[in-house]
Amino acid sequence: MSATTLSPEIVTVASLAERCDRCSAAAKLEVTIAGGGTLAFCGHHGNKHAADLSRVAARVAVEQGFAWAGEVRTA
Ligand SMILES: [Zn+2]
Repeated sequence: MSATTLSPEIVTVASLAERCDRCSAAAKLEVTIAGGGTLAFCGHHGNKHAADLSRVAARVAVEQGFAWAGEVRTA
C-alpha cells in the first residue's frame, strides 16, 4: 500500500472574517477538517502547516490573492 495524500477541495473566496487560531492575525485560510470542524490560519501559519493541513482537510477556502503553499498548482 502506498501513502496517498488526499486532495482537499480548494475554493477561492473574496475575503474571510475569521482570525488565525494560532496568532489572531486576519485569516487567509479556512480549513474544513475531514472529520468535522473548521480551523482558520493566517498566511504565515497556513503555509507553515500546509503539509499537515492538506492531509486532514476536506475543503480549504483560500482568500483571493493569497498563494497557499498547500495548493497543488497545475501550471
Ligand atoms: Zn497565525
